[in-house]
Amino acid sequence: MEQSLEIFNRVVNELLADEAKNPVAEYIPADKLHTRLDLKLQKEGLNADALETVLKDIIFATPRTGTSAFFNQLFGGRNDKAILGDLLAVILNNSMATYKVAGPQIIVEKTVLRELCNMIGWDENSDGTLAPGGSMTNFMGMLMARDAFNATTRHQGVHQRMTVYTSVESHYSTPKNAAFSGIGRDNVRKIPTDDNGRMDNTLLREAIVADIANGLHPILINCTAGTTVLAAFDDLVGASEIAKEFNIWLHVDGAYCGSVIFSEKYKHLIAGVENVDSFTLNAHKMMGTPLSCSLIVVKDKKHLHDSFSNDATYLYQTDHDDLNLGKTSIQCGRRNDALKLWVLWKSLGTNGMKAIVEQEFALADAGRAYVQSHPDYTDYSVDDTVAVCFNYKGIPAEDICTQLYEHSELLVGYGSFREDTFIRLVTINSGNEIDDILQFFKTLEAFVDQNAELFS
Ligand SMILES: *Cc1c(COP(=O)(O)O)cnc(C)c1O
Repeated sequence: MEQSLEIFNRVVNELLADEAKNPVAEYIPADKLHTRLDLKLQKEGLNADALETVLKDIIFATPRTGTSAFFNQLFGGRNDKAILGDLLAVILNNSMATYKVAGPQIIVEKTVLRELCNMIGWDENSDGTLAPGGSMTNFMGMLMARDAFNATTRHQGVHQRMTVYTSVESHYSTPKNAAFSGIGRDNVRKIPTDDNGRMDNTLLREAIVADIANGLHPILINCTAGTTVLAAFDDLVGASEIAKEFNIWLHVDGAYCGSVIFSEKYKHLIAGVENVDSFTLNAHKMMGTPLSCSLIVVKDKKHLHDSFSNDATYLYQTDHDDLNLGKTSIQCGRRNDALKLWVLWKSLGTNGMKAIVEQEFALADAGRAYVQSHPDYTDYSVDDTVAVCFNYKGIPAEDICTQLYEHSELLVGYGSFREDTFIRLVTINSGNEIDDILQFFKTLEAFVDQNAELFS
């Protein structure tokens, strides 16, 4: 063990030193990987030195998500306290199914979930769990909606035509989960948005009324807190009135931006969240923990039990039902994803968690202000969020993003809203300063201006 930890420390220290000079890893085309790196497995083992050399090569060639040049996905940066928590979870290697095998780690998880429920304003009847990512916590929300609508479904299978409502701008996990859950992708209604990317609640209501008139069964409204491209927030107050009127489960996919709940200043973006049935957030996005750390909480914990409990005498051999978290999870063996969030929260306090969120909004504000004040840019962003959407000198966003990537300059992606396609700069790395955001634009401008031939 000691030797492996030494290798770990050496390789990581060298990587961090290199990242400070080279925030983007060398670009290696996929078809060159095998000639460039020793990825094959062989019959005889390697000694520690040889292994370290191979590992270092691979680690150095891996895309760098922790630096100030990574804006490609809805995660990024590196929070050392959260990493400490996750490394300890690996060393401890508990499974979160039972108190017997996880002990105090069960309370770590329950504490994090309880605090989240408290922030929403829910009472002791609420609870939650963690799953490997927002797609999976959204899946759990959908399954609870399905079973709450008809409790026999769990035993007999889906035998009614159920329908699900989500905006056209929402994450693709909703249609995928509709396929998994037996509801069917064709029964997902994609509701148009307003000009700011928010689900149009008038059209939502009309779609529900039309489906009911046709004998279908609306079971779930999925609202998004932070849509994938614009990072827009659906109106939860309006949606919850509709959910109440028709007695439909309301889930909030806050995988991207649900963490605004930590900020007094920005939690108005999810006003009405106390009235929903289930709510998801990914701490590995806005809060900057390592992947993955996805929480789902429900207003009434009965639904977690109704949809996910299963007896297993080989597993549940002590009667700590409240502490045997396997009774409310989608997995059996389950990684301890709560510890990294707990260590982060414990070390920073709730005030520090708030500061993370507010820093990300400040970075986006600075980015939008820059774009809006420079005539070479076209701004496509919406206000009050953590994405800056723009084009530069009318050059197709895809071309700029691909060239920046292949020249190892910056990792950033593009997205579309309605007819427009644009670069999407995501500011969810709270380790960045405003200067890092301004540096992003300088790098992009210098690259485009010095490589005009690539864009002609
Ligand atoms: C990222 C994201 C998801 C999926 O979460 P994973 O952890 O990647 O599975 C779902 N919904 C939204 C809005 C997201 O941004």
